[in-house]
Amino acid sequence: MQNHDYDLFVIGAGSGGVRAARMAAGFGAKVAVSEDRYMGGTCVNVGCVPKKLYVYAAEFGKSFKDAKNFGWNSEQPAFNWATLRDNKKTEIFRLNAIYDNLLTGAKAVVIKGRARIIDAHTVAVGEQRYTADKILIATGGWPHIPKFPGSELAISSNEVFDLEQFPKRLAIVGGGYIAVEFAGIFNGLGAKVSQLYRGSMFLRNFDADIRAHAAQEIAKTGVDLRFNVNVQSITAGHGGLQVLLTDGSTLEVDAVLYATGRKANLEGLGLENVNVKISDAGTIEVDKNYCTSEPSIFALGDVVGRMELTPVALAEGMSFARRQFGGLENAVDYEFIPTAVFCQPNIGTVGFTEDEARTKFGKLRVFKSTFKPMKHSLSGRDEKTFMKLIVDKTSDRVVGAHMMGPDAGEIMQGIAIAMRAGATKAVFDSTIGIHPTAAEEFVTMREVWRED
Ligand code: FAD
Ligand code: NDP
Repeated sequence: MQNHDYDLFVIGAGSGGVRAARMAAGFGAKVAVSEDRYMGGTCVNVGCVPKKLYVYAAEFGKSFKDAKNFGWNSEQPAFNWATLRDNKKTEIFRLNAIYDNLLTGAKAVVIKGRARIIDAHTVAVGEQRYTADKILIATGGWPHIPKFPGSELAISSNEVFDLEQFPKRLAIVGGGYIAVEFAGIFNGLGAKVSQLYRGSMFLRNFDADIRAHAAQEIAKTGVDLRFNVNVQSITAGHGGLQVLLTDGSTLEVDAVLYATGRKANLEGLGLENVNVKISDAGTIEVDKNYCTSEPSIFALGDVVGRMELTPVALAEGMSFARRQFGGLENAVDYEFIPTAVFCQPNIGTVGFTEDEARTKFGKLRVFKSTFKPMKHSLSGRDEKTFMKLIVDKTSDRVVGAHMMGPDAGEIMQGIAIAMRAGATKAVFDSTIGIHPTAAEEFVTMREVWRED
Protein backbone atom coordinates (compact mmCIF):
# COMPACT_ATOMS: atom_id res chain seq x y z
CA MET A 1 0.00 0.00 0.00
CA GLN A 2 1.25 3.47 -0.89
CA ASN A 3 1.81 6.00 1.85
CA HIS A 4 -1.37 8.11 1.82
CA ASP A 5 -2.49 10.94 4.13
CA TYR A 6 -5.52 8.88 5.15
CA ASP A 7 -6.80 5.31 4.99
CA LEU A 8 -10.28 6.66 4.24
CA PHE A 9 -11.48 10.02 2.94
CA VAL A 10 -15.26 10.40 3.29
CA ILE A 11 -17.05 13.03 1.20
CA GLY A 12 -20.22 14.13 3.01
CA ALA A 13 -21.02 14.17 6.74
CA GLY A 14 -24.60 12.95 6.42
CA SER A 15 -26.21 9.80 7.81
CA GLY A 16 -24.12 7.33 5.78
CA GLY A 17 -20.82 9.23 5.74
CA VAL A 18 -20.70 9.91 9.48
CA ARG A 19 -21.58 6.32 10.38
CA ALA A 20 -18.97 4.89 7.98
CA ALA A 21 -16.29 7.35 9.20
CA ARG A 22 -16.91 6.69 12.89
CA MET A 23 -16.91 2.93 12.48
CA ALA A 24 -13.84 2.90 10.25
CA ALA A 25 -11.99 5.09 12.80
CA GLY A 26 -13.17 2.68 15.51
CA PHE A 27 -11.43 -0.14 13.62
CA GLY A 28 -8.23 1.91 13.75
CA ALA A 29 -8.34 3.55 10.31
CA LYS A 30 -7.01 7.08 9.79
CA VAL A 31 -10.09 8.93 8.58
CA ALA A 32 -10.96 12.38 7.22
CA VAL A 33 -14.49 13.63 6.49
CA SER A 34 -15.27 16.67 4.36
CA GLU A 35 -18.58 18.53 4.62
CA ASP A 36 -19.47 21.72 2.78
CA ARG A 37 -22.89 22.60 4.17
CA TYR A 38 -24.13 21.15 7.45
CA MET A 39 -23.01 18.44 9.87
CA GLY A 40 -25.46 15.53 9.95
CA GLY A 41 -26.57 15.97 6.33
CA THR A 42 -30.11 16.03 4.99
CA CYS A 43 -31.76 14.02 7.78
CA VAL A 44 -30.60 16.31 10.57
CA ASN A 45 -30.87 19.65 8.77
CA VAL A 46 -33.61 19.55 6.13
CA GLY A 47 -35.08 16.06 6.45
CA CYS A 48 -36.28 13.56 9.05
CA VAL A 49 -35.55 15.59 12.18
CA PRO A 50 -37.03 19.05 11.39
CA LYS A 51 -39.83 17.30 9.49
CA LYS A 52 -40.81 15.22 12.55
CA LEU A 53 -40.66 18.29 14.79
CA TYR A 54 -43.07 20.05 12.40
CA VAL A 55 -45.31 16.96 12.35
CA TYR A 56 -45.57 17.16 16.15
CA ALA A 57 -46.45 20.85 15.83
CA ALA A 58 -49.14 20.09 13.25
CA GLU A 59 -50.73 17.34 15.36
CA PHE A 60 -51.33 19.69 18.31
CA GLY A 61 -53.90 21.62 16.27
CA LYS A 62 -56.28 18.65 16.04
CA SER A 63 -55.53 17.47 19.59
CA PHE A 64 -56.80 20.76 21.03
CA LYS A 65 -60.12 20.13 19.27
CA ASP A 66 -60.17 16.43 20.25
CA ALA A 67 -59.74 17.34 23.92
CA LYS A 68 -63.07 19.20 24.16
CA ASN A 69 -65.29 16.10 24.49
CA PHE A 70 -62.86 14.71 27.06
CA GLY A 71 -63.78 17.64 29.29
CA TRP A 72 -61.04 20.13 28.43
CA ASN A 73 -62.23 23.62 27.70
CA SER A 74 -59.88 26.38 26.61
CA GLU A 75 -59.69 29.31 24.24
CA GLN A 76 -58.82 28.31 20.66
CA PRO A 77 -54.98 28.41 20.74
CA ALA A 78 -53.14 30.43 18.07
CA PHE A 79 -50.14 29.12 16.16
CA ASN A 80 -46.94 31.15 15.83
CA TRP A 81 -44.72 30.08 12.91
CA ALA A 82 -41.65 32.05 14.01
CA THR A 83 -41.63 30.27 17.40
CA LEU A 84 -41.67 26.83 15.80
CA ARG A 85 -39.13 27.74 13.10
CA ASP A 86 -36.67 29.37 15.49
CA ASN A 87 -36.93 26.68 18.19
CA LYS A 88 -36.32 24.13 15.44
CA LYS A 89 -33.20 26.06 14.37
CA THR A 90 -31.82 26.00 17.92
CA GLU A 91 -32.35 22.25 18.15
CA ILE A 92 -30.66 21.64 14.79
CA PHE A 93 -27.63 23.75 15.84
CA ARG A 94 -27.38 21.55 18.93
CA LEU A 95 -27.45 18.42 16.76
CA ASN A 96 -24.86 19.88 14.34
CA ALA A 97 -22.45 20.27 17.26
CA ILE A 98 -23.15 16.72 18.44
CA TYR A 99 -22.30 15.34 14.99
CA ASP A 100 -19.07 17.34 14.94
CA ASN A 101 -18.16 15.94 18.37
CA LEU A 102 -19.07 12.39 17.36
CA LEU A 103 -16.55 12.55 14.54
CA THR A 104 -13.76 14.30 16.38
CA GLY A 105 -14.42 12.06 19.41
CA ALA A 106 -13.89 9.06 17.12
CA LYS A 107 -10.56 10.68 16.05
CA ALA A 108 -11.75 11.41 12.50
CA VAL A 109 -10.52 14.72 11.05
CA VAL A 110 -13.36 17.03 9.94
CA ILE A 111 -12.51 19.20 6.92
CA LYS A 112 -15.02 21.99 6.19
CA GLY A 113 -15.51 22.68 2.50
CA ARG A 114 -16.64 21.17 -0.78
CA ALA A 115 -14.61 18.16 -1.87
CA ARG A 116 -13.63 17.43 -5.44
CA ILE A 117 -12.09 14.17 -6.61
CA ILE A 118 -8.82 14.74 -8.49
CA ASP A 119 -7.84 11.13 -9.14
CA ALA A 120 -8.52 7.66 -7.75
CA HIS A 121 -6.64 8.45 -4.51
CA THR A 122 -6.71 12.27 -4.30
CA VAL A 123 -9.37 14.70 -3.09
CA ALA A 124 -9.14 18.50 -3.07
CA VAL A 125 -10.98 20.76 -0.63
CA GLY A 126 -10.35 24.34 -1.74
CA GLU A 127 -6.64 24.61 -2.55
CA GLN A 128 -5.66 21.77 -0.24
CA ARG A 129 -5.13 18.24 -1.58
CA TYR A 130 -5.38 15.03 0.42
CA THR A 131 -4.54 11.48 -0.58
CA ALA A 132 -6.33 8.40 0.70
CA ASP A 133 -6.19 4.65 0.18
CA LYS A 134 -9.99 4.63 -0.16
CA ILE A 135 -12.46 7.40 -0.99
CA LEU A 136 -16.11 7.12 0.07
CA ILE A 137 -18.72 9.22 -1.72
CA ALA A 138 -21.66 9.83 0.64
CA THR A 139 -22.92 13.08 -0.84
CA GLY A 140 -26.65 12.28 -0.66
CA GLY A 141 -29.33 13.80 -2.88
CA TRP A 142 -30.71 17.19 -3.84
CA PRO A 143 -34.32 18.21 -4.60
CA HIS A 144 -35.22 18.14 -8.27
CA ILE A 145 -37.64 20.75 -9.64
CA PRO A 146 -38.53 20.27 -13.32
CA LYS A 147 -38.11 23.29 -15.61
CA PHE A 148 -41.32 25.07 -16.74
CA PRO A 149 -42.41 28.72 -17.00
CA GLY A 150 -42.06 30.19 -13.52
CA SER A 151 -40.34 27.15 -11.98
CA GLU A 152 -37.81 29.54 -10.39
CA LEU A 153 -40.68 30.78 -8.17
CA ALA A 154 -41.20 27.30 -6.66
CA ILE A 155 -39.45 26.21 -3.47
CA SER A 156 -38.23 22.77 -2.40
CA SER A 157 -38.05 20.98 0.94
CA ASN A 158 -34.67 22.69 1.45
CA GLU A 159 -36.34 26.10 1.80
CA VAL A 160 -39.73 25.24 3.27
CA PHE A 161 -38.53 24.80 6.85
CA ASP A 162 -37.18 28.33 7.15
CA LEU A 163 -39.71 30.48 5.30
CA GLU A 164 -39.77 34.03 6.60
CA GLN A 165 -43.58 34.17 6.48
CA PHE A 166 -46.01 31.34 7.16
CA PRO A 167 -47.65 30.43 3.81
CA LYS A 168 -51.37 30.72 4.52
CA ARG A 169 -52.14 29.27 1.07
CA LEU A 170 -49.78 26.57 -0.15
CA ALA A 171 -49.72 24.45 -3.31
CA ILE A 172 -47.70 21.23 -3.06
CA VAL A 173 -46.74 19.38 -6.21
CA GLY A 174 -45.99 15.64 -6.03
CA GLY A 175 -47.47 12.48 -4.61
CA GLY A 176 -44.52 10.90 -2.78
CA TYR A 177 -43.33 10.95 0.83
CA ILE A 178 -42.40 14.63 0.99
CA ALA A 179 -45.54 15.99 -0.71
CA VAL A 180 -47.83 13.90 1.48
CA GLU A 181 -45.97 14.71 4.70
CA PHE A 182 -45.84 18.45 4.06
CA ALA A 183 -49.50 18.58 3.04
CA GLY A 184 -50.24 17.15 6.50
CA ILE A 185 -47.85 19.52 8.24
CA PHE A 186 -49.09 22.77 6.71
CA ASN A 187 -52.74 21.69 6.81
CA GLY A 188 -52.32 20.89 10.50
CA LEU A 189 -50.66 24.25 11.14
CA GLY A 190 -53.65 26.03 9.62
CA ALA A 191 -52.68 26.73 5.99
CA LYS A 192 -55.05 26.12 3.10
CA VAL A 193 -53.19 23.35 1.26
CA SER A 194 -53.76 22.11 -2.30
CA GLN A 195 -51.81 18.95 -3.14
CA LEU A 196 -51.47 18.35 -6.87
CA TYR A 197 -50.51 14.94 -8.21
CA ARG A 198 -50.02 14.17 -11.91
CA GLY A 199 -51.36 10.58 -11.81
CA SER A 200 -54.64 8.98 -10.82
CA MET A 201 -53.46 7.81 -7.37
CA PHE A 202 -50.53 9.07 -5.31
CA LEU A 203 -47.96 7.14 -3.20
CA ARG A 204 -46.69 4.93 -6.00
CA ASN A 205 -45.02 1.73 -4.70
CA PHE A 206 -47.29 1.56 -1.63
CA ASP A 207 -50.02 -1.07 -1.33
CA ALA A 208 -53.08 -0.17 -3.44
CA ASP A 209 -55.52 -0.38 -0.49
CA ILE A 210 -53.30 1.87 1.61
CA ARG A 211 -53.09 4.40 -1.22
CA ALA A 212 -56.87 4.50 -1.59
CA HIS A 213 -57.39 4.72 2.18
CA ALA A 214 -54.78 7.48 2.45
CA ALA A 215 -56.49 9.50 -0.30
CA GLN A 216 -59.79 9.24 1.56
CA GLU A 217 -58.38 10.10 5.00
CA ILE A 218 -56.14 12.94 3.83
CA ALA A 219 -59.02 14.57 1.93
CA LYS A 220 -61.11 14.33 5.14
CA THR A 221 -58.49 16.32 7.05
CA GLY A 222 -59.15 19.29 4.77
CA VAL A 223 -56.29 19.00 2.24
CA ASP A 224 -57.56 19.93 -1.22
CA LEU A 225 -56.19 16.77 -2.84
CA ARG A 226 -56.28 16.78 -6.64
CA PHE A 227 -55.25 13.95 -8.96
CA ASN A 228 -54.56 13.90 -12.73
CA VAL A 229 -53.36 17.48 -12.69
CA ASN A 230 -50.02 19.25 -13.00
CA VAL A 231 -48.66 22.79 -13.06
CA GLN A 232 -48.29 24.60 -16.40
CA SER A 233 -46.86 27.86 -15.13
CA ILE A 234 -46.38 30.06 -12.09
CA THR A 235 -46.45 33.86 -12.27
CA ALA A 236 -45.99 36.40 -9.53
CA GLY A 237 -49.07 38.63 -9.09
CA HIS A 238 -50.25 41.25 -6.59
CA GLY A 239 -52.28 38.82 -4.49
CA GLY A 240 -49.62 36.09 -4.48
CA LEU A 241 -48.43 33.44 -6.92
CA GLN A 242 -50.80 32.56 -9.75
CA VAL A 243 -50.56 28.86 -10.57
CA LEU A 244 -52.00 27.76 -13.90
CA LEU A 245 -52.90 24.06 -13.92
CA THR A 246 -53.08 21.61 -16.81
CA ASP A 247 -56.88 21.35 -16.42
CA GLY A 248 -57.11 25.08 -17.18
CA SER A 249 -57.95 26.11 -13.61
CA THR A 250 -55.85 28.51 -11.53
CA LEU A 251 -54.82 28.73 -7.90
CA GLU A 252 -53.63 31.80 -6.01
CA VAL A 253 -51.18 30.86 -3.27
CA ASP A 254 -48.38 32.28 -1.12
CA ALA A 255 -45.92 29.51 -1.98
CA VAL A 256 -45.54 26.50 -4.27
CA LEU A 257 -43.62 23.57 -2.81
CA TYR A 258 -42.20 21.13 -5.34
CA ALA A 259 -41.69 17.63 -3.92
CA THR A 260 -40.99 15.87 -7.17
CA GLY A 261 -38.12 13.63 -6.15
CA ARG A 262 -34.42 14.02 -5.49
CA LYS A 263 -31.36 13.51 -7.65
CA ALA A 264 -27.93 12.21 -6.61
CA ASN A 265 -25.74 15.11 -5.47
CA LEU A 266 -22.80 14.83 -7.89
CA GLU A 267 -22.38 18.51 -8.84
CA GLY A 268 -18.71 19.53 -8.97
CA LEU A 269 -17.59 16.23 -7.46
CA GLY A 270 -14.93 15.66 -10.13
CA LEU A 271 -16.25 12.30 -11.30
CA GLU A 272 -15.01 13.13 -14.82
CA ASN A 273 -11.49 12.60 -13.41
CA VAL A 274 -12.10 8.95 -12.47
CA ASN A 275 -13.76 5.84 -13.82
CA VAL A 276 -16.96 5.90 -11.73
CA LYS A 277 -20.01 4.64 -13.63
CA ILE A 278 -23.30 6.52 -13.38
CA SER A 279 -26.64 4.76 -13.92
CA ASP A 280 -29.41 5.98 -16.25
CA ALA A 281 -31.19 7.31 -13.15
CA GLY A 282 -28.13 9.48 -12.42
CA THR A 283 -27.02 7.54 -9.33
CA ILE A 284 -23.58 6.04 -8.73
CA GLU A 285 -23.38 2.35 -9.66
CA VAL A 286 -21.90 0.12 -6.96
CA ASP A 287 -21.52 -3.60 -6.30
CA LYS A 288 -22.74 -5.34 -3.15
CA ASN A 289 -19.74 -3.98 -1.23
CA TYR A 290 -20.49 -0.39 -2.34
CA CYS A 291 -17.44 -0.40 -4.61
CA THR A 292 -17.77 1.71 -7.77
CA SER A 293 -16.15 0.82 -11.09
CA GLU A 294 -13.03 2.60 -9.74
CA PRO A 295 -11.64 0.05 -7.22
CA SER A 296 -10.48 2.61 -4.62
CA ILE A 297 -13.72 4.61 -4.70
CA PHE A 298 -16.88 3.57 -2.86
CA ALA A 299 -20.35 5.13 -2.59
CA LEU A 300 -23.41 4.61 -0.40
CA GLY A 301 -26.61 6.22 0.86
CA ASP A 302 -28.92 8.36 -1.30
CA VAL A 303 -26.19 8.91 -3.90
CA VAL A 304 -26.52 5.23 -4.91
CA GLY A 305 -30.33 5.50 -4.70
CA ARG A 306 -31.22 2.04 -3.37
CA MET A 307 -33.68 3.13 -0.69
CA GLU A 308 -33.48 6.79 0.22
CA LEU A 309 -33.93 6.33 3.96
CA THR A 310 -31.64 7.28 6.84
CA PRO A 311 -31.56 3.83 8.47
CA VAL A 312 -30.58 2.35 5.10
CA ALA A 313 -27.70 4.84 4.71
CA LEU A 314 -26.61 3.98 8.27
CA ALA A 315 -26.74 0.24 7.59
CA GLU A 316 -24.75 0.69 4.37
CA GLY A 317 -22.18 2.83 6.21
CA MET A 318 -21.72 0.13 8.87
CA SER A 319 -21.55 -2.65 6.33
CA PHE A 320 -18.89 -0.77 4.34
CA ALA A 321 -16.73 0.01 7.40
CA ARG A 322 -16.98 -3.50 8.82
CA ARG A 323 -15.93 -5.09 5.56
CA GLN A 324 -13.20 -2.65 4.51
CA PHE A 325 -11.64 -1.92 7.91
CA GLY A 326 -12.87 -4.67 10.26
CA GLY A 327 -12.42 -7.62 7.92
CA LEU A 328 -16.03 -8.67 8.62
CA GLU A 329 -18.62 -9.86 6.10
CA ASN A 330 -21.77 -7.89 6.69
CA ALA A 331 -24.08 -7.46 3.71
CA VAL A 332 -27.18 -5.29 4.05
CA ASP A 333 -30.40 -7.24 3.53
CA TYR A 334 -32.81 -4.99 1.62
CA GLU A 335 -35.86 -7.22 2.19
CA PHE A 336 -38.50 -6.33 4.79
CA ILE A 337 -37.23 -2.79 5.43
CA PRO A 338 -40.01 -0.98 7.30
CA THR A 339 -40.88 2.59 6.44
CA ALA A 340 -43.39 5.23 7.48
CA VAL A 341 -44.99 8.28 5.92
CA PHE A 342 -45.61 10.80 8.68
CA CYS A 343 -48.94 12.11 7.45
CA GLN A 344 -52.02 12.36 9.68
CA PRO A 345 -52.55 9.62 10.63
CA ASN A 346 -49.26 7.85 9.78
CA ILE A 347 -48.75 5.19 7.17
CA GLY A 348 -46.50 2.33 8.26
CA THR A 349 -45.49 -0.48 5.97
CA VAL A 350 -43.16 -3.47 5.80
CA GLY A 351 -42.70 -6.18 3.22
CA PHE A 352 -44.51 -6.64 -0.06
CA THR A 353 -47.60 -4.93 -1.42
CA GLU A 354 -50.40 -7.31 -2.36
CA ASP A 355 -49.56 -7.02 -6.07
CA GLU A 356 -45.84 -7.65 -5.50
CA ALA A 357 -46.58 -10.56 -3.16
CA ARG A 358 -48.91 -12.21 -5.68
CA THR A 359 -46.20 -12.01 -8.35
CA LYS A 360 -43.53 -13.36 -6.01
CA PHE A 361 -45.38 -16.01 -4.00
CA GLY A 362 -48.39 -16.95 -6.16
CA LYS A 363 -51.35 -17.67 -3.93
CA LEU A 364 -52.15 -15.37 -1.00
CA ARG A 365 -54.52 -14.95 1.91
CA VAL A 366 -55.22 -11.31 2.75
CA PHE A 367 -56.64 -10.00 6.02
CA LYS A 368 -57.84 -6.48 6.80
CA SER A 369 -59.32 -4.43 9.56
CA THR A 370 -60.94 -0.99 9.30
CA PHE A 371 -62.13 0.76 12.44
CA LYS A 372 -62.56 4.06 14.23
CA PRO A 373 -59.77 4.48 16.83
CA MET A 374 -61.18 4.32 20.37
CA LYS A 375 -59.99 7.87 21.09
CA HIS A 376 -62.25 9.23 18.37
CA SER A 377 -65.37 7.57 19.77
CA LEU A 378 -65.33 10.49 22.22
CA SER A 379 -63.35 13.13 20.31
CA GLY A 380 -65.79 12.98 17.41
CA ARG A 381 -62.96 13.18 14.88
CA ASP A 382 -63.93 11.47 11.64
CA GLU A 383 -60.89 9.24 11.13
CA LYS A 384 -60.56 5.57 10.27
CA THR A 385 -57.65 3.22 10.82
CA PHE A 386 -56.84 0.63 8.15
CA MET A 387 -54.65 -2.45 8.65
CA LYS A 388 -53.78 -5.23 6.26
CA LEU A 389 -51.78 -8.47 6.46
CA ILE A 390 -50.65 -10.37 3.38
CA VAL A 391 -49.89 -14.06 3.87
CA ASP A 392 -48.17 -16.47 1.49
CA LYS A 393 -50.77 -19.26 1.29
CA THR A 394 -48.21 -22.02 0.77
CA SER A 395 -45.88 -21.27 3.69
CA ASP A 396 -48.31 -19.27 5.92
CA ARG A 397 -45.55 -16.65 6.24
CA VAL A 398 -46.69 -13.03 6.69
CA VAL A 399 -45.03 -11.24 3.78
CA GLY A 400 -46.67 -7.81 3.93
CA ALA A 401 -48.07 -5.63 6.70
CA HIS A 402 -49.57 -2.22 6.00
CA MET A 403 -51.32 0.28 8.22
CA MET A 404 -52.67 3.80 8.18
CA GLY A 405 -53.57 4.93 11.66
CA PRO A 406 -52.22 6.72 14.73
CA ASP A 407 -48.62 5.74 15.51
CA ALA A 408 -48.39 3.36 12.54
CA GLY A 409 -44.67 4.22 12.30
CA GLU A 410 -44.12 3.12 15.91
CA ILE A 411 -46.24 -0.02 15.58
CA MET A 412 -44.67 -1.22 12.36
CA GLN A 413 -41.15 -1.39 13.81
CA GLY A 414 -42.13 -4.36 16.02
CA ILE A 415 -44.09 -6.05 13.23
CA ALA A 416 -40.97 -5.76 11.03
CA ILE A 417 -38.91 -7.74 13.57
CA ALA A 418 -41.48 -10.55 13.55
CA MET A 419 -41.60 -10.58 9.77
CA ARG A 420 -37.83 -10.64 9.40
CA ALA A 421 -37.80 -13.58 11.80
CA GLY A 422 -40.13 -15.34 9.34
CA ALA A 423 -43.27 -15.25 11.50
CA THR A 424 -46.24 -17.14 10.06
CA LYS A 425 -49.87 -16.05 10.37
CA ALA A 426 -50.22 -18.85 12.97
CA VAL A 427 -47.54 -17.10 15.07
CA PHE A 428 -49.38 -13.77 14.75
CA ASP A 429 -52.63 -15.56 15.76
CA SER A 430 -51.07 -17.23 18.82
CA THR A 431 -49.63 -13.93 20.06
CA ILE A 432 -51.71 -12.41 22.85
CA GLY A 433 -52.78 -8.82 22.17
CA ILE A 434 -52.21 -5.76 24.33
CA HIS A 435 -55.63 -4.41 25.17
CA PRO A 436 -56.93 -1.85 24.41
CA THR A 437 -54.60 -0.81 21.60
CA ALA A 438 -54.90 -0.50 17.84
CA ALA A 439 -51.82 -2.70 17.40
CA GLU A 440 -53.65 -5.72 18.88
CA GLU A 441 -55.66 -5.88 15.66
CA PHE A 442 -52.54 -7.31 14.00
CA VAL A 443 -52.91 -10.46 16.16
CA THR A 444 -56.69 -10.72 16.04
CA MET A 445 -57.47 -10.62 12.31
CA ARG A 446 -59.11 -14.02 11.72
CA GLU A 447 -61.43 -13.60 8.78
CA VAL A 448 -59.86 -13.88 5.34
CA TRP A 449 -60.69 -10.82 3.22
CA ARG A 450 -59.27 -12.06 -0.09
CA GLU A 451 -58.00 -15.57 -0.87
CA ASP A 452 -56.46 -16.93 -4.09
P1 FAD B 1 -27.12 13.10 3.23
O1 FAD B 1 -27.69 12.95 4.58
O2 FAD B 1 -27.86 13.91 2.24
O3 FAD B 1 -25.65 13.66 3.42
C1 FAD B 1 -24.85 14.08 2.35
C2 FAD B 1 -23.92 15.17 2.84
O4 FAD B 1 -22.91 15.36 1.87
C3 FAD B 1 -24.62 16.52 3.01
O5 FAD B 1 -24.39 17.02 4.30
C4 FAD B 1 -23.99 17.40 1.93
O6 FAD B 1 -23.89 18.76 2.32
C5 FAD B 1 -22.62 16.76 1.79
N1 FAD B 1 -21.97 16.98 0.49
C6 FAD B 1 -22.51 16.82 -0.75
N2 FAD B 1 -21.58 17.04 -1.69
C7 FAD B 1 -20.42 17.35 -1.05
C8 FAD B 1 -19.11 17.65 -1.46
N3 FAD B 1 -18.77 17.65 -2.77
N4 FAD B 1 -18.17 17.93 -0.52
C9 FAD B 1 -18.47 17.91 0.81
N5 FAD B 1 -19.71 17.61 1.26
C10 FAD B 1 -20.66 17.32 0.34
N6 FAD B 1 -35.50 9.29 5.80
C11 FAD B 1 -36.02 8.53 6.80
O7 FAD B 1 -35.54 7.41 7.03
N7 FAD B 1 -37.05 8.99 7.57
C12 FAD B 1 -37.61 10.20 7.39
O8 FAD B 1 -38.54 10.59 8.10
C13 FAD B 1 -37.09 11.02 6.34
N8 FAD B 1 -37.61 12.25 6.12
C14 FAD B 1 -37.08 13.02 5.13
C15 FAD B 1 -37.64 14.28 4.92
C16 FAD B 1 -37.16 15.09 3.91
C17 FAD B 1 -37.78 16.45 3.69
C18 FAD B 1 -36.06 14.64 3.12
C19 FAD B 1 -35.50 15.52 2.04
C20 FAD B 1 -35.49 13.39 3.32
C21 FAD B 1 -36.01 12.57 4.33
N9 FAD B 1 -35.49 11.29 4.56
C22 FAD B 1 -36.02 10.52 5.56
C23 FAD B 1 -34.38 10.76 3.74
C24 FAD B 1 -33.04 10.89 4.47
O9 FAD B 1 -32.85 12.22 4.88
C25 FAD B 1 -31.91 10.46 3.54
O10 FAD B 1 -32.18 9.15 3.06
C26 FAD B 1 -30.55 10.44 4.26
O11 FAD B 1 -30.24 11.70 4.78
C27 FAD B 1 -29.46 9.99 3.28
O12 FAD B 1 -28.21 10.04 3.91
P2 FAD B 1 -26.86 10.20 3.06
O13 FAD B 1 -25.75 10.02 4.02
O14 FAD B 1 -26.91 9.35 1.87
O15 FAD B 1 -26.89 11.69 2.52
P1 NDP C 1 -40.66 10.57 -4.25
O1 NDP C 1 -39.86 9.90 -5.29
O2 NDP C 1 -41.15 9.79 -3.09
O3 NDP C 1 -41.94 11.25 -4.94
C1 NDP C 1 -41.81 12.13 -6.01
C2 NDP C 1 -43.21 12.50 -6.49
O4 NDP C 1 -43.14 13.53 -7.45
C3 NDP C 1 -43.94 11.33 -7.14
O5 NDP C 1 -45.28 11.38 -6.75
C4 NDP C 1 -43.77 11.62 -8.63
O6 NDP C 1 -44.83 11.13 -9.40
C5 NDP C 1 -43.82 13.13 -8.64
N1 NDP C 1 -43.13 13.71 -9.78
C6 NDP C 1 -41.90 13.40 -10.26
N2 NDP C 1 -41.58 14.19 -11.31
C7 NDP C 1 -42.64 15.02 -11.49
C8 NDP C 1 -42.92 16.06 -12.42
N3 NDP C 1 -42.04 16.39 -13.37
N4 NDP C 1 -44.12 16.69 -12.33
C9 NDP C 1 -45.01 16.35 -11.38
N5 NDP C 1 -44.79 15.37 -10.47
C10 NDP C 1 -43.63 14.72 -10.53
O7 NDP C 1 -39.78 11.81 -3.82
P2 NDP C 1 -39.86 12.84 -2.63
O8 NDP C 1 -39.30 14.08 -3.20
O9 NDP C 1 -41.23 12.86 -2.02
O10 NDP C 1 -38.87 12.21 -1.55
C11 NDP C 1 -37.57 11.74 -1.92
C12 NDP C 1 -37.21 10.54 -1.11
O11 NDP C 1 -36.86 10.92 0.23
C13 NDP C 1 -38.35 9.54 -0.90
O12 NDP C 1 -38.48 8.68 -2.00
C14 NDP C 1 -37.94 8.83 0.35
O13 NDP C 1 -37.10 7.75 0.04
C15 NDP C 1 -37.20 9.89 1.13
N6 NDP C 1 -38.09 10.40 2.18
C16 NDP C 1 -38.44 9.57 3.21
C17 NDP C 1 -39.33 9.98 4.16
C18 NDP C 1 -39.71 9.04 5.26
O14 NDP C 1 -39.05 8.04 5.45
N7 NDP C 1 -40.77 9.32 5.99
C19 NDP C 1 -39.88 11.32 4.16
C20 NDP C 1 -39.42 12.13 3.06
C21 NDP C 1 -38.56 11.67 2.12
P3 NDP C 1 -44.87 9.62 -9.98
O15 NDP C 1 -45.19 8.73 -8.82
O16 NDP C 1 -45.97 9.69 -10.98
O17 NDP C 1 -43.53 9.36 -10.58
